[in-house]
Amino acid sequence: MRQMLKRARKKTKEEQKKIAMERIEILFNLADDSALSGDVKRASRYVEMARKTAMRYNLRISREYKRKFCKYCYRYLLPSVTSTVRINSEGHRVEVKCLECGRSMFYPFIKELKEKRKNEGKDKDTANRKKRSK
Ligand SMILES: [Zn+2]
Repeated sequence: MRQMLKRARKKTKEEQKKIAMERIEILFNLADDSALSGDVKRASRYVEMARKTAMRYNLRISREYKRKFCKYCYRYLLPSVTSTVRINSEGHRVEVKCLECGRSMFYPFIKELKEKRKNEGKDKDTANRKKRSK
């Protein structure tokens, strides 16, 4: 009986998930707006709401949004206000330190990764060009 109900509701659940994902996006946008207007506390509340929505619907928060808050205490991370950002060029990563809990998070260097991906597609071309120029 329960299984039948689950099957019958499956479509609506998918729809709910879609709505929840949109809601998460809106909440993170609101968090950004709050933080930019100087209200980091409110921004953190929006992050909390977004997280709860994600958990409730078993959704993953995209990488882009994950970087907006501390993975330990979930505070909104605003560079130079609630976090410090250091670029570790040797390790090719960015160190983000949360000023709320004092813990650090490391992320790979996005710009470099993007360039790498771009170059991967051009590899053949550049290799040929190099041969020619020699
Ligand atoms: Zn923190």
